[in-house]
Amino acid sequence: MEERRRFISKEFKQLYGRLPSIWARAPGRVDLMGSHTDYNMGFVLTMTIDRDTWIAAFPREDNHIVIHSCNTPGGAFFSLEDIQRDKVAPWTNYVRGVAAVMQTSGFKLRGFDGLIHSTVPFGSGLSSSAAIEMAVAILFKTLSDLRLNPVDMALIGQRAENDFVGVSTGILDQYSSAMGRDGCGILLDCRHLTSEAVPINPALQVVICNTRSERNLVGTEYDERRAQCEEGLRLLQRFYPGITALRDVSPAMFMAQRQMLPELIARRCQFIIEENQRVLDLAQALPEDCPEPLHELFAASYSGARDLYEIGSPAMAAMMDAMLLAPGLVAARQAGAGFGGSMVALVKEGFLEVFIDHVTKTYQQETKIQAEIYAVQAAPGAMILE
Ligand code: ADP
Ligand code: MG
Repeated sequence: MEERRRFISKEFKQLYGRLPSIWARAPGRVDLMGSHTDYNMGFVLTMTIDRDTWIAAFPREDNHIVIHSCNTPGGAFFSLEDIQRDKVAPWTNYVRGVAAVMQTSGFKLRGFDGLIHSTVPFGSGLSSSAAIEMAVAILFKTLSDLRLNPVDMALIGQRAENDFVGVSTGILDQYSSAMGRDGCGILLDCRHLTSEAVPINPALQVVICNTRSERNLVGTEYDERRAQCEEGLRLLQRFYPGITALRDVSPAMFMAQRQMLPELIARRCQFIIEENQRVLDLAQALPEDCPEPLHELFAASYSGARDLYEIGSPAMAAMMDAMLLAPGLVAARQAGAGFGGSMVALVKEGFLEVFIDHVTKTYQQETKIQAEIYAVQAAPGAMILE
């Protein structure tokens, strides 16, 4: 941590001729259960990870923002009075977007010189985008002395990503990064925007297995799945007029009307409805010292994602096979939106090294890709660093 601070300080000094006076950070996250349930107003069992995004900053006397990133070339200089989308350095749109949405919401912002540094891998489903948004949000909140709670910040980040950056996402990523808890998972209710802590059995390690495969289809496929869920909801409302999201449909209610839906729509809805129930079941099972239910819940989540929601990929299948055969494995499934990216395993304490070794070798033999595998721990949500 001190080394990281020294490195960023040095870069900051080179860019801005002085040292930063304030530091903000926000973590990435991984879902332990609940793929695509967030935009269906359902539940997710999510966990922050100890990979995060930092921003070192110094407030400015004018209302300009200067922003650079140690992770990506190009930066931006813009006035808070005229925030435009940037095509040259599109990554700065995450910063611009948060500022724009905050101002639209009536907050008066102060400018700063800032430098970003992240240990969250980009585009692998661990939410580097939410981490940058929440780090920027808490920095603005503190520098501009705003009355904002973490849920407000999450909603601002989501709007920035949806409306300014132009990527549709649910609330999961931003909520997790803003509200995540040190040392435990959280059970998030995406309709009420509330959550409760879920302890993870200490005999388990959460391990990220990044397939490092391309995720080109994510955007269009994501929008298509959302539209199919909406279509399913509309059709189910004929039988259940009181429902306003798939979250309101229990597995039994769904099965009673499944045959009335077109097959593709039925498969999509079935996955969401069952996945939602699995989240609630996992919240019960995760603190316990009993591997079987964990294994079954994760396995059902993966097969549903592959066969019903169809967000799998050959690389994910190869990774799943490798994980299931590895020593110490308790449970394994996809993470994030699917179509490649990262997967997540629960591994018995003491088996980490052999697990990583085994999965790396098997996956490499099968795909010729060097996977990236590491244990993560739940870290605190967005905050100002002392
Ligand atoms: P994910 O959130 O799964 O990592 P996204 O595609 O949603 O993937 O977000 C990744 C994008 O967020 C990057 O391509 C980049 O534009 C932006 N981003 C995230 N973190 C940083 C950072 N530290 N520096 C610059 N850009 C970043
Ligand atoms: Mg993202």
